[in-house]
Amino acid sequence: MYQCAKCVQLGCEKQDLDKTLPECPSKNNEVQGLTKKEYGKEENKKISYHSACVEAKGYGQDTRLIEIIKFMNRMAYKKIGLAFCAGFTKEGREVTKILEYNGFEVVSVICKNGAIPKTFVGLEDENTIRGSAEKEVMCNPIGQAKILADCKTDFNLVLGLCVGHDTLFFKYTEAPVTVIAVKDRVTGHNPLAPVYCSEGYYKKKFYPENPDEYKF
Ligand code: SF4
Repeated sequence: MYQCAKCVQLGCEKQDLDKTLPECPSKNNEVQGLTKKEYGKEENKKISYHSACVEAKGYGQDTRLIEIIKFMNRMAYKKIGLAFCAGFTKEGREVTKILEYNGFEVVSVICKNGAIPKTFVGLEDENTIRGSAEKEVMCNPIGQAKILADCKTDFNLVLGLCVGHDTLFFKYTEAPVTVIAVKDRVTGHNPLAPVYCSEGYYKKKFYPENPDEYKF
């Protein structure tokens, strides 16, 4: 089983395959061969090339949104889909303003599109935020992806979709996609903040006494 996250030598990065874990994906010649073929495909090559250029040219200086703008320009994407969460309406408006100023056409679709009640997917009142599955509108990431596909967007952006709703958006998006920001309601949308504290204040949260704590 591959365990790159536990590898300290990182021979791949140093182009020294004597310094790897015993099981190393860099040494899986069959998969790596197939992978290289994929990069030969025009779109993949272009995305790979321009994302590396964006990384190199603004390294440590450009914020994520600036990198996204530069990447979209390099890729000549014009019509941009914005799949945003209702909890990020203000941010969605601001991002749209910024993107439009920078010459993009923005199609934005909120997660609540379709106005479908939560009962549609079998949710019960006790599994809703305010206690009524009939009155609460479910998030509809498939709708977001389908509407953006219908609008023939060149590229899609995800802004703050919930865990799992984003999964469905990624599953159904037809245009290539990147993420502006992930949602973390507790940390101001910075999910790594508690990870940085995982040996301190968050230790009990991440390593609960009862390992079944998060199984429900
Ligand atoms: S690819 Fe190989 S060398 Fe690179 S991190 Fe994984 S195990 Fe280590």
